[in-house]
Parts: sequence; structure tokens; C-alpha cells
Amino acid sequence: MGTTPDSSNKRMPEGGRRAGSEGAGRTVLIVDDDPTHVQHVREGLAPQGYRFREARDGAQALSAIREHRPDLILMDVEMPGLGGVEVCRIVKANAGEGGFGFIPVILMTARQAAGKVEGLELGADDYLVKPFDMLELSARVKSMLRLKALQDALIEKNRELDRANKELARKREELLTLSRTDPLTSLSNRRYFEERLAEEFARARRYRSPLSLVMLDIDHFKRINDTYGHPFGDEVLRAVALVSRTRLREVDLLARYGGEELIALLPETSPADALRACERVREAIESLRLDYRASDGTSQKVSCTASLGLASLPSVPLQTAEDLLRAADECLYKAKEAGRNRVRQYEE
Ligand code: GH3
Ligand code: MG
Ligand code: MG
Ligand code: MG
Repeated sequence: MGTTPDSSNKRMPEGGRRAGSEGAGRTVLIVDDDPTHVQHVREGLAPQGYRFREARDGAQALSAIREHRPDLILMDVEMPGLGGVEVCRIVKANAGEGGFGFIPVILMTARQAAGKVEGLELGADDYLVKPFDMLELSARVKSMLRLKALQDALIEKNRELDRANKELARKREELLTLSRTDPLTSLSNRRYFEERLAEEFARARRYRSPLSLVMLDIDHFKRINDTYGHPFGDEVLRAVALVSRTRLREVDLLARYGGEELIALLPETSPADALRACERVREAIESLRLDYRASDGTSQKVSCTASLGLASLPSVPLQTAEDLLRAADECLYKAKEAGRNRVRQYEE
């Protein structure tokens, strides 16, 4: 029983055990109830530098597969108990992601059973008829390992692609959020508000459901800027935005509409409930006390107020989203005229 060195072995004086040689370090599981045959196969493949695992029957083979995840299985068909064909079926039935993955199986069978083996739908990737030539064994094993390596690389590439796709989706989502956000206040921006207003308006009209729109403008904001400086004005704006947000429901959309103007859309909100929400917001803004630190080290509390205009659907005169906007804006103007720090509600 000679070991026939493979031709590639000529390039590998150390018997192919060097790292980097093709197939070196790959795990080959040899399953056979005949120990001499196992030995024979091992010797035949020894020059390739594979790592070997052995099993004497089908049951042992399955636990070895589970434990060692071999890159290739060389398996006898005729074994007591669980035979090679059955084990092969199990391996192939569990080739999925959560199972064994793809492991090529080469079945080995005696000549007199070869016809039978060939006729069966084995699901094996290849088979060899005993006694076989070591060159042939070596060549088949190599080609199967090449297949396995390609398959593994493909799976890895798919995983990479999957990761990249997920990352891309995350980035796209991030970008979308960014494109809808006002950088100063972190509220929604006007563009996004207008998109949503069109949708909500159409929905409210179709289902005759209530919808309220609020326009809010900080009172005498120019004074705040002039007295404490523009950066402090920004701080006031952020605080007003934040506190207003907390006084509205999660489903209400609050956006920065312009300089020191906020706008809110309250779906499924009756005029009476919307008025209460506006009062809550107004009071919360009025209660704000912001710390202003002057350059001389002194500090003082600064407060501010806001005026709000409110208009609601359903309303016969308000036929378009623009009508609703204009009505709220006119109410805001009336609130300013009436002395600021108050809410005015549209009436038909
Ligand atoms: P009113 O009560 O009538 O609304 O008075 P007002 O001073 O708030 O109104 P006006 O529209 O005259 O002034 C608004 C000011 O808001 C003018 C503008 O410089 C300031 N402003 C607009 N955007 C910003 C901003 O992002 N940051 C700061 N700090 N100020 C801003
Ligand atoms: Mg046997
Ligand atoms: Mg204004
Ligand atoms: Mg103002």
C-alpha cells in the first residue's frame, strides 16, 4: 500500500505542511468501520498537510461533524448501524446557515455495491469505488476542497454584502432624518412640516377627522437678541423648542417654521383640546428661566413669552392647507395685537 505523492508535492519539499500551501490545515473527516482502510486513506493524503479526524460509524461521524466542522467528509457507505448514505443525507439536510453549512461528501464504496450507490439519489458530491488509486483520491479531495473554499468565500462575501447593505440602510435613514431636522433646535424643519401638513390635511378631509394647526412666535425676540446677544437668543430659541415639545403629544408634529417661529400639527385633536395644548405650551414658555452670564461674571435669569395662533379642521371656510395656515397665522397676528403672551383661536 504505497502513498502516491501528488504532483504538486514536488513544489513542497516538506510534504505540503507549510502554511499557505493549498489545502494545508483543512480538516478531513474519514469515516470507515475498517481501520486499515482509514489508515490507507490517511497515508494517501498525508503529503497534502490536511488535518485528519476519524470516525468508525455513522453516529460517531455525526458527532465529529458537529464538533470539528470538517471541510470535507470521506465516508464509507457500508457501515454497521447508520450507513454512509444516511449520514450524507443528514449532512445535506442540515446544510443551512444554522446547521453544518456546506460540507462536501465523498462516499467510498465496494465495487460490487457501486451500481447501487450510483443509482441512489445520494446527495453526495462525489464517490470513489474501492479499491481506489491514491492519485485519484488525492485529486478528488483537492477538487472538493477547492469547491468548499469557493463556497466559504461566497458565504463570507454574502455576509460582507449583507453588513454593507445594513450599514447603507442605516446611513440612508440617518441622512433622511438629518434632511428633516432643523440643526439649531433639533425639531423638524419647515420642508418636512410642509410635506406632513399636505398628507395630514388630505387625510383629515377624507375621513372628516379633526386636525389642528398652531403657529407660535416668540414675543419681542429682537429685544432678547439686542440685550443679551445673538448666541443667547439661540439658547432661548432652543429652550422654547424643547419645552414646547414636552408639552405636546408624541404624535404631534412640532417644527421650526422660520427664525423664531414654531409650528405644530395636532392630528385627531378637537379645537377645545388643541386650545388646552396651546395654553400648556404658552404657560411652559412663560415659566422658563434662562441663565444669562454676562462677561463681567454676573448672572441673571431671563424669561420670555410667546404668542400662539390656532386653527382647526373641520371648518367649511378652510378648504386647503394654505387656508388652514393662513387662518392660524392671522390668529397669531391677533394674539400679538391683543398684547402678546396669549393664544388666539380661529372662528368661522
Ligand atoms: P414680536 O413680538 O412682534 O414677534 O417681536 P419680535 O422682536 O420677536 O419680532 P421680529 O420679527 O421683529 O424679530 C424677530 C427676530 O428674531 C429678528 C431676528 O434677528 C431674530 N432671529 C431670527 N432667527 C434667529 C435665530 O436663529 N437666532 C437668533 N438668535 N435670532 C433669530
Ligand atoms: Mg465498511
Ligand atoms: Mg417672527
Ligand atoms: Mg417674534
